[in-house]
Amino acid sequence: MKKRRHTSIAPAPEPSEWLSLSTCSLCLRTLRNGEWIEAETIIRELRSFEHQAPPRLKSAVCDACVESIYLRRAQPEALAA
Ligand SMILES: [Zn+2]
Repeated sequence: MKKRRHTSIAPAPEPSEWLSLSTCSLCLRTLRNGEWIEAETIIRELRSFEHQAPPRLKSAVCDACVESIYLRRAQPEALAA
């Protein structure tokens, strides 16, 4: 018996890959292969809308947002203004 295959342009990644994504809670970029990627790009690449289960994203803070938090904390007089 032959197995039926979906003839999509690119195969959707395994659910295990997009189920274990860390997402920045501030800018919504997602960590993938060590890089922070824009949310729209990740949604297009992983095609999460094709999966039945919603992605379980781990909340994190990306490098750029960590840096901006530190910069703000380094300038206490700016907060009082
Ligand atoms: Zn961020």
